[in-house]
Amino acid sequence: MALARLKKYVAKRDFTRTAEPSGEGKSLTRGRRYLIQKHAASHLHYDFRLEHDGVLLSWAIPKGPSMDPADKRLAVHVEDHPVAYGDFEGTIPKGQYGGGTVMLWDIGQWAPLGDVNESMRKGDLKFAVLGERLKGGFALVRLKNRNNRYGGKGDNWLLIKEKDPYARPGGKPVTERNLRSAKTGRTMDEIARGNEVWHSNRGDSDTDKKPVRKGAAKAAKPLARRAAKKSAVKRKTPTRSAAKKKKARRPR
Ligand code: MN
Repeated sequence: MALARLKKYVAKRDFTRTAEPSGEGKSLTRGRRYLIQKHAASHLHYDFRLEHDGVLLSWAIPKGPSMDPADKRLAVHVEDHPVAYGDFEGTIPKGQYGGGTVMLWDIGQWAPLGDVNESMRKGDLKFAVLGERLKGGFALVRLKNRNNRYGGKGDNWLLIKEKDPYARPGGKPVTERNLRSAKTGRTMDEIARGNEVWHSNRGDSDTDKKPVRKGAAKAAKPLARRAAKKSAVKRKTPTRSAAKKKKARRPR
């Protein structure tokens, strides 16, 4: 059941303070959405997400995806995310879990080769994506702990491009060829400035860079202020749950 699988996602977030979707409500379309969110959190990474069974299977890829079959990119399997999260582009308030700027770097559809649940159990998921930036066959392969040079605890996988007509050996990496949002055409800086611009009364040319999700931006206004106040007070004693979160933190 999707809601049960999202427990971990919900537990990590305070939805009175972040504009991220809470996972309440259902996805309107049943399908197989594929998307990548470029996420400038404490460490830049790319969140690779595949819709399955009402949630987004998720991996955090520090170096981002590659279209070169010779590249094996570390992909840390993280908690399932709500399907609605796949629409999110904007800024998660500083101090919140995953605080930073999120860009919808790629959007599209995916199709698995074989049974997804079985493939996830085996740690060998083969699939095709049809995105704006990524296309064709890929494999996500789970590393066995014993030959895992990335450190024992993470659920570490590798994302590998399949050799097919879409493959692009060598050349400029796909992550460097595409520095703008697949959804809004904005750069990370423009997205980061988005909320400020939205609230300013300057009325300059920046006004055409309004966040796409007006509701989220409006909601973020008082929240951002509150967050700013909070950080100004410099809360030295984190709540018990915050301490727990810190311990469990890993790139998502
Ligand atoms: Mn992330």
